[in-house]
Amino acid sequence: MRLYINDVAVRDGFQIEKVFVPTATKIEVINQLARTGLHKIEVTSFVSPKAVPALADANEVLAGIDHVPGVVYVALVPNLRGVHNAAAALRKPDEVNAVISASETHNRANINRTHEQSLAELPAMVRAAHAAGIKISLSLSTTFGCPFEGRVHEDVVYSFVEKFRALGVDGISLADTTGMANPRQVSDLTREVLRRFPPPNDTYYTMHFHNTRGMGLANVVASIEAGARSFDGSVSGLGGCPFAPGATGNVCTEDMVNMLEDMGCDTRVDLAKLLAVARRIPAVVGHDTPGQVMKAGQTLELHDPPEFAKT
Ligand code: ZN
Repeated sequence: MRLYINDVAVRDGFQIEKVFVPTATKIEVINQLARTGLHKIEVTSFVSPKAVPALADANEVLAGIDHVPGVVYVALVPNLRGVHNAAAALRKPDEVNAVISASETHNRANINRTHEQSLAELPAMVRAAHAAGIKISLSLSTTFGCPFEGRVHEDVVYSFVEKFRALGVDGISLADTTGMANPRQVSDLTREVLRRFPPPNDTYYTMHFHNTRGMGLANVVASIEAGARSFDGSVSGLGGCPFAPGATGNVCTEDMVNMLEDMGCDTRVDLAKLLAVARRIPAVVGHDTPGQVMKAGQTLELHDPPEFAKT
């Protein structure tokens, strides 16, 4: 089974780090990631540098990286101005990703807008991206739960997916922004979204899980069984949760690839190369990271038995 793996560490992960990761280091990490077989890399964000100083170097990053053929380079855009800035960049991203939260309170907290205000701007954002030859995907944050409002009703999710599709977007991410999803819920919701709104291709829907409560990989498997084929992860397990200091972030990309390849799935990712990137991340951010396979080694990395046990 062909699965598509995307990495969001440089954006979702680096943006909450206390240290500013130098532009040259970001470029090196992205270039290294681009040669592992990943489908997409989220490389930066066209947000206000005041709001997210960590990603103030969007233009420099996009201009500085190698654009490896076959890899989709994505930049996050919070609003129409973000799309215009992406379109005006010296080197444009292949795709921009806009975010709207399924929960109204989270939408206000995250981008200081009501649902109505966010939805009102989306058609212009889609038009501006397409006019610039850039694909546009939409992420539905808090799809599986909101840290302020609790569970999000499925009908709210269906209604957003329907609106996004009517706008002619190129992809939709269902995001468990603060790690509140559980496998049963993921299975039910993913199956129903796919049944009601069949995707034009295997990468149209992307599942974006956070491992905040240890259910990240279980949710990946649950969504695969329900038909999902495209997944976000963060190399080294980088990232966190702004509402829970110390909480872990995105599903760890190389842990996910290790599991999926063990299960016989085809991710096209070279795990050894990906592990090499993961193992350099703690030095880049200045602290330990939650990835597990980077510490334990790949499943079939065998060890010498003790002398007495040798036959
Ligand atoms: Zn996220």
